[in-house]
Amino acid sequence: MPEFMSISLQDKDTIDRIRVLKEKWGSELMILGHHYQRHGIIQVADKIGDSFGLAKAAAESPDVKHIVFCGVRFMAESAAILCRDDQRVLHPEPEAGCPMADMAPMEAVDEAWQLLNSRSDLQGRSFIPVTYMNSHAPLKGFTGRHNGLVCTSSNAEKAMQWAWARGEIVFFFPDQHLGRNTAKAMGLKPEEMIVWYPSKPNGGIESLDGIKLILWNGNCPVHMKFKARDVHFLRKHFPGSLVAVHPECEQEVVDLADAVGSTEYIVKYVKSLKEGTRVFIGTEVNMVERLQKENPKLRVELLFRSLCPTMYMVDLQKLERTLNNLETEEPVPMPLDIKEPARLALERMLALQN
Ligand code: SF4
Repeated sequence: MPEFMSISLQDKDTIDRIRVLKEKWGSELMILGHHYQRHGIIQVADKIGDSFGLAKAAAESPDVKHIVFCGVRFMAESAAILCRDDQRVLHPEPEAGCPMADMAPMEAVDEAWQLLNSRSDLQGRSFIPVTYMNSHAPLKGFTGRHNGLVCTSSNAEKAMQWAWARGEIVFFFPDQHLGRNTAKAMGLKPEEMIVWYPSKPNGGIESLDGIKLILWNGNCPVHMKFKARDVHFLRKHFPGSLVAVHPECEQEVVDLADAVGSTEYIVKYVKSLKEGTRVFIGTEVNMVERLQKENPKLRVELLFRSLCPTMYMVDLQKLERTLNNLETEEPVPMPLDIKEPARLALERMLALQN
């Protein structure tokens, strides 16, 4: 095992104890691990994947009563939205949030919605909210109540098509880059999109003429670290190598990449490459390091070392503590007035995929 994948002796002991606890709970327990989690967590996870795939897998497993989500808060919340009434969702580190989700607080979203709907240049047009999975539960609930839907990075295009069939202007939350990259790939022109800046009067928008897409001014700090200059540097010094990035990266980076897609897409893309290919990946470091290990016949490299610090807050010791208190630890709260409309927004997304 390469040095970066090594597990400390303390962690090895913890893994052994966690395996005993897993034996004890059997099929009633499911540990979910997002791709960006530490390597030790991935070793004990029952399922590894992206946030939506994991939440759905748990809800669809009939025997599972206790879902322990190793990821950030919005992921555990999504599992709590989708889970059955007889299931409990636990999050080993409730403080592990997502800076991007935090960029779209409900008060600011409500204010923007009211301001936009009272504009005189709206001229009878309506807004449909499209909200990325990487958002807080109340924003998902808002989306469901206002006839919109949730999307992931792999179905954002379908979600936007769905929304434009129902309203003239899509309001995309909270990641402006995923929204812009998706709309650009669909043929939208730059002048048809505009960013809503919650800190500016009227969101900083002077005119809605010709606008089809409003992008909330949010971003993922982890994916913002990848810059076009990094790609230019690699192209110059490593000709023939490939670059694959996540669509949360800035448009300039996405435009230069050979492949763009969700975490699941990147995993499949790397697996499809010919032996000996050198590929630089622009997404979270833990996932890229595992891709290196899992694909020893390729040269999988980091576009830049970028770690998600909140994902990193979940560790084996916190997971063990949660497993030791499986029946007494407070589950992720999900009030019905949020759960029901948020679930509707998620179910609209699910219907898209069929
Ligand atoms: S990688 Fe970005 S979007 Fe994902 S949890 Fe971290 S900050 Fe949030």
